[in-house]
Formats: sequence, structure tokens, C-alpha cells
Amino acid sequence: MSQAQVLYDLQQIDNEIRAEKQRLGEVLRLQKEPAALLAARERAAAARADLQQWQAQHKDLTLEIASVAEKARRSEERLYSGSVKNPKELTDLQNELEALGRRRAALEDDALLMMMEIDERKGILAVADDEVASRAGEFTDASAALRQEQQTLALHLNSLLEKRGRHVTLAEPALLKSYDAISRQKNGLAVAGLQANKCLGCRLTLSSAVIRAADQGKLVYCENCGRILCPI
Ligand SMILES: [Zn+2]
Repeated sequence: MSQAQVLYDLQQIDNEIRAEKQRLGEVLRLQKEPAALLAARERAAAARADLQQWQAQHKDLTLEIASVAEKARRSEERLYSGSVKNPKELTDLQNELEALGRRRAALEDDALLMMMEIDERKGILAVADDEVASRAGEFTDASAALRQEQQTLALHLNSLLEKRGRHVTLAEPALLKSYDAISRQKNGLAVAGLQANKCLGCRLTLSSAVIRAADQGKLVYCENCGRILCPI
């Protein structure tokens, strides 16, 4: 096998390695929770906090209603116990009972309105939780497939690196150095095919001297882009 062919084959292996590494990077990135899921989680957390705040307020109100009711019960007990004989005191008690009744009714109206607010917020939270569950489900399914792909990629990459390790021993050390240097300059593409008198790296027509040398089996470089040429 000519050195040009050895380096050309090395280039194909390196192309494959580069592509696999790139995909592996993507696969690792894709396994992070997507922004849409994180945003849905935030919305659900905010909806939950909002609901809890309303529920706490409702609980306070319920306690206040119970306290007013208890006060009314005690006043009523006194009123009908027969122990209070003073008419002024009886009138005061009656007035107090009425006031407590009005207060209780007002608080109960507030509590009812609050319950409606709470129901509405429960609905908002349920929608937000559903969205989290659905997005998390999609993500879990996708993650499973991605983990599988990651494993396949890692195994394939490993075998490619082994293949490269074996193949690279076929190249002359000086040419390998040249390959690495051009590769760094040319975005990883050190070897170009030579076809129909053209360099497939830069698409320019080569001089007859270069083509002749290549035909004689010599290792030649493109005069334009500097890549190693391999007749294909
Ligand atoms: Zn070229």
C-alpha cells in the first residue's frame, strides 16, 4: 500500500472519529434537562407556593370564624342563662351577639370568596403539574434512548481508536508528522483525493508535474491548499 493510500485511509478513520466525538458531545449535552422542562418546574413551584399562601390565609380566617363563633356561643349562654338580670346588660349582650353575627357572616363571605380563589389556583397548579409530568416523561424516554446511543458511540469510538492505533504504524514517522501538522492547519483534513486532475480538498486543477509525480506513485502535495494528495 502506498504511503498516500495509508494517509488517505488514516484520514477516513480520523474523520469518523471526529464525527463520533462530536455526536457524543451532543448526546451528553442533550441528557441535561431541557430549558422547557426547567421552566415548567419553576411555573409549578410558583403555582404551588401561591396556592399554599392562599390556603394559609384561609386557615387563619377559619380560625377567626371559630373564635367569633365561640365568643357568640358564650355570650348566648350568658344571655339565656337567666343569670343576667340587668336590662342594660341584657341589651348590651344582645347587641354584642348581633355584632358578632354580622362579623361572622362577613368573615364567612370572605372565606367563601377565598375558597373560590383557592379552587382556581388548584386548577392552575394541576395544569402546571401535568405539564411537568408530560415534559419529564418525554425527557425520560429521550434520555433512555440517548444513554443507549452514548454507550454505542463510546464502544464504536473505542474500536475506531484501536483501529487508528494499528493503522498509524503503517505510516512513515516523518509523513505522519507532516499529516498532523497539515491536519492542525486544515481543520482536521490533511489528505485530499486526487481525481480528474483536481484536488478534491480545494477543487483546483493541479499542474501536470504534480499529476505526473502522482502517477509515478510519488507522494505529492496540492500546490494550492498544501494537502497531501491521494489518487482515488
Ligand atoms: Zn488542494
